[in-house]
Amino acid sequence: VSAGLVLPPEIADELVAHARSENPNECCGMIAGIDGVARRVYRVTNTEASPFMYVMDPREQLRIMDEIDEAGWDLMGIYHSHTRSAAYPSRTDVELAFFPLTPYVIVSLQGADPVIRAFLLTRTAPDGKQIEEIPVTT
Ligand SMILES: [Zn+2]
Repeated sequence: VSAGLVLPPEIADELVAHARSENPNECCGMIAGIDGVARRVYRVTNTEASPFMYVMDPREQLRIMDEIDEAGWDLMGIYHSHTRSAAYPSRTDVELAFFPLTPYVIVSLQGADPVIRAFLLTRTAPDGKQIEEIPVTT
């Protein structure tokens, strides 16, 4: 389990830029990196095109996961934006979280300044704890 997520400023900027470009809909995508540091952002189509939820296009998702593998990188996070709410997982986010060991990164555009937080989401945690925040450093 990841102790934390390092998002260099240019990666954080890219996440915010993607969130703004899809606003008011939620954006989504994947973050790849190596040695615990994020190096590349992959934008994925939100097939719902909705302000309230996201579903990553499954074909794009598979292609990018192959690309990440072939590059010898790690999948370091799955991100999406909240355009009108805080950077905290919604009930839907928890229900649709299929990767228990991958940080879920949420970019919120709710306030004057964007906020980025990361969480581990486990739908079937034995202790009932479904949302665990992990530290993000830039
Ligand atoms: Zn969400």
